[in-house]
Amino acid sequence: MAEVEKRQDRSPVPSAFEYATAPESREIVRLEERYGLFLGGEWAEPSSGEYAPSVAPRDEEVLAEVAYAGAEDVDLAVRAARDAFTNGWSDLPASERAKYLFRIARILQERSREFAVLESLDGGKPIRESRDVDLPLSAAHFFYYAGWADKLEYAFPNRRPRPLGVAGQIIPWNFPLLMLSWKIAPALAAGNTVVLKPAESTPLTALLFADVLRQAELPAGVVNVVTGDGRAGAEIVKHPDVDKIAFTGSTEVGKEIMRAVAGTGKSITLELGGKAANIIFDDAPLDQAVEGIVNGIYFNQGHVCCAGSRLFVQEPVYEEVLAKLKRRMGTLRVGDPLDKNTDVGAINSREQLERIEELVSSGEEEGAEIYQPPCRLPEKGWWFPPTVFTNVAQSYRIAQEEIFGPVLSVLTFRTPDEAVEKANNTPYGLSAGVWTEKGSRILSVAQRLRAGVVWANTYNRFDPASPFGGYKESGFGREGGLHGLAPYLEFEE
Ligand code: NDP
Repeated sequence: MAEVEKRQDRSPVPSAFEYATAPESREIVRLEERYGLFLGGEWAEPSSGEYAPSVAPRDEEVLAEVAYAGAEDVDLAVRAARDAFTNGWSDLPASERAKYLFRIARILQERSREFAVLESLDGGKPIRESRDVDLPLSAAHFFYYAGWADKLEYAFPNRRPRPLGVAGQIIPWNFPLLMLSWKIAPALAAGNTVVLKPAESTPLTALLFADVLRQAELPAGVVNVVTGDGRAGAEIVKHPDVDKIAFTGSTEVGKEIMRAVAGTGKSITLELGGKAANIIFDDAPLDQAVEGIVNGIYFNQGHVCCAGSRLFVQEPVYEEVLAKLKRRMGTLRVGDPLDKNTDVGAINSREQLERIEELVSSGEEEGAEIYQPPCRLPEKGWWFPPTVFTNVAQSYRIAQEEIFGPVLSVLTFRTPDEAVEKANNTPYGLSAGVWTEKGSRILSVAQRLRAGVVWANTYNRFDPASPFGGYKESGFGREGGLHGLAPYLEFEE
């Protein structure tokens, strides 16, 4: 047995450290018992009278009851958005539109603690991440697109950009406020109005955002929020007066939406799943690479479309990387999302936990070797420990399917060509990571990877100025940067 293998048998957990808990107070969040739909700047009861609970993944506490929108409600939302578009918003001087976006950005900053606590409560992600990633990036997106609002003629010279009209936006549960910001900020900057549908399991920050819109005195109807399940999303997609659909979610639903939109003339962008390759060459700075691997797959419990869920390690450093990785996994603190020391929070929903468990069982049945560091999981709520699979064949489901959980599959390669071939062996093409000391190798490998985003010697870095999106079954269209503005405009060429 190799020396590193022997060392792995010892507990990787440094026993000397026992952190005291450092819980963030939830007092700052004032929740209503019940939330209606935000239509035309007012709260409205759903026509069905139906409500469903939004539940905290950390302890299954019911946080609030949230309205279920039906076809009639979606129709009201679209009418409100159309009315706002025609009667004011699209004709407003662009510099005035920009002021609203700047205002929203500043209010998000001012209320960032409140939003961060609510995001962690409703979604299960560690407060450290919602505080340090989701909130600053959400505000940054509004700031960024506020800057473009009155410069569209310069952004797209000689093309006479015009807004499309009403944008229907459907977002998932993994980055509720951030996905909202990615979608609403460019849509408004371009002069469109919006009907937004948050995910069923994480609607609360979108509902709190409605309060930000009021605070910013955004004209009524410019942004409408309809909560509910997938049926509400489907109603938005098929509504004849919606001009553009922007969707982030599963490839399966993305395909359904694509079919529904075909032939209607609606403009569409889809940001779907991923199965990203994180490639470690033998000359990479291994300690940093291990941090990148951990960040790539355990950030947000792996509920990340661009998660580095397939790790490719060059053979000479395989054992060393694995030993370092296992040791690092032993220091990850899994637990209460509101504890400031937590690294890995709760799984977003019971359904998602079951999906992860099913795929992990398939990995074991197909013959992969599983490793999970010793860790105590809370008794209540939905949890899954950080997991790594070795002895993985490329055909295994855990190497092919999006797990969307804290589960990493490790494979090896010998040459750059082999790395590229294996990395591209997936129906997806959203993101990838390359770790090597050589700049020329980064460029040559990155060029050959069929992935919309390639990170070099880092992972999961986001910036509002940088476009994000996929190839193949990861969807099409880009969010972020000028690329993210164009899909909300039409041009007179
Ligand atoms: P979905 O694709 O079902 O959900 C994404 C959004 O679409 C939600 O708001 C959802 O509403 C809505 N939706 C569902 N069905 C329809 C429909 N027919 N028409 C229009 N909108 C619809 O993802 P899931 O939550 O079911 O997650 C399943 C898997 O998808 C995950 O395990 C993961 O692998 C992947 N996923 C990928 C994401 C990504 O960012 N690429 C994000 C989320 C999931 P509601 O929540 O109310 O059902």
